[in-house]
Formats: sequence, structure tokens, C-alpha cells
Amino acid sequence: MHRSLAPAFLLVLGLGLAFARPQEEVRVRAEPVAGSVHVLFGQGGNIGVSAGPDGLLLVDDQFERLAPAIEAALAKLAPEAGAPRFLVNTHHHGDHTDGNKHFGKRAVVVAHENVRARLLEENAPPQSLPLVTHADGLALHWNGEEIRLLYVPGAHTDGDTAVWFTGSNAIHLGDLYFQVGYPFVDVASGGNVVGLAEGLRALLAKLPDDVRVIPGHGTVTGKGELAEYVTMLETITERVRTHLAEGRDVAAMMAAGVTRDFDGRWGSFDFIPPQRFVESVVASLR
Ligand SMILES: [Zn+2]
Repeated sequence: MHRSLAPAFLLVLGLGLAFARPQEEVRVRAEPVAGSVHVLFGQGGNIGVSAGPDGLLLVDDQFERLAPAIEAALAKLAPEAGAPRFLVNTHHHGDHTDGNKHFGKRAVVVAHENVRARLLEENAPPQSLPLVTHADGLALHWNGEEIRLLYVPGAHTDGDTAVWFTGSNAIHLGDLYFQVGYPFVDVASGGNVVGLAEGLRALLAKLPDDVRVIPGHGTVTGKGELAEYVTMLETITERVRTHLAEGRDVAAMMAAGVTRDFDGRWGSFDFIPPQRFVESVVASLR
């Protein structure tokens, strides 16, 4: 069953490649976000950076082969800082954690306990494994602010952490937020679109109105655009729920235009076309 959701690793590999061809030289570009927080765009999940007097803290680290380019971008941002001391993984997918093979040699890796379990299952090398795990949240005190790690259960995966820089007024949502289009919901790894929408709705209620929001993939936005994304998730989920109750399959739902009014904004991400997203909603509701 769930043919289209199968091998998650292929999807993750695809996400890594979705923004650059493998033979191309990957450029890593830094952009300031707010306060001490910056974002690095390269290939794979966006990297959050806290740079300041205490040194560097990273949120996710893309791919091991990009480590030299990531280090060059960090050296430009903070020439005196040296190697990152902390590395928070938002979840276990390889386009967010493969760089642990390099950065985990020097940094303390922090993640939800399910991330450690999944990396162990995948036979990740010792330096890639989180040394500090949390079951339901944790705070780090770094560069003059409290950085709150918030667990969002059963969402993109079963190990998602949102990283809220409370002083800088920015949050890294990892793949809880696909700004580029319909999201990949990794149902096979405990993800669920209902948990995803509920978790984001709760975050929207908690965050200041002018917070800057770093997505796992795409550009930095504010709360307004995040709210539109959550509304899209909720609306399509409710439509699919109704169609399922009336006995329709995915083909009938697509023919009925279950995503049609959202496709203009969210349907152009090649990797998760509308039908693939709907299939993940169906799998979430079963
Ligand atoms: Zn992911």
C-alpha cells in the first residue's frame, strides 16, 4: 500500500537535490535573520546559525560533502568563532543531518530522542548521534538568549524540534514548514498531517507577531505566510476527511479538485505534486 510514500530515503535524497543538480558547484549563501540569528542556504535543509560572544550554534547541517563550503560561510559570518559548539537537529532526515559526520566531531549534537533512535537504526557513525536528547523540550542558554527547543509530536516525522530564539525573535521550524510548496509528510517515520497542522497552530498562538520564521526549505517569512500554510494544511485535510467518509479514493478526490484552489501557490514544488500530498493526507487519516 502507500506506494507513493515508500522509501523515505529517496524522497529525502530528492529534497536535497531539488534545489541544485549534483554536478553543479553548490554555493552556500548566508543571510541575516534577526538578532544573533542567520540562515545559510546551500543544498538540503536550511541551516540556522546563532553567532555571538559564546561562539556558534547550528541548527541542521545539510550534507557532509558541503562542510567546507558551510565552514567558509561561517568564517565570513564570525571570523573569531572557531568550530560550532552546539548542533541542534530539527529531525533525522539526511538532508538535515548528514553534515553531523563532520560537525559532530567538535559540536555537541542535540535532538529529540526519536532522532537518535532513527540515526542508530540507519547505522550513523558515532559522531552523528545526538549526545543530548530531549523527550518534550529543552532550553539552551547561548549568545545572551534562551533558545527553546519545542517538541512537535507526530508532525513531519516523530522527532521534530522547533528551535525558538526567544531574544532574537526568530524560529527555525525545520521541515514542519515547507515554504516552497506542499510538504513531504513522512508517515512511515511517524509523521502525520493532522499533528503537523495542530502543532503549527499551537506555535502560531505562542509566537510574537513579528517573529521571523525559517522554514526547512524555502525563504524566511513572517507569521502571516506561515498562517496561510497552516490554513492550506487544515483546509485540504478537512476536505480529504469528508471525501474519505463518502468513500472516495485519491483519484476521485483529485478529479473533484480537492487541492485546486491552493495549487497556484503550493503546487509548483516538483518533488511533492498535489496528488502526492493528498496521498500523505489519506495515509495520515487512516
Ligand atoms: Zn525532512
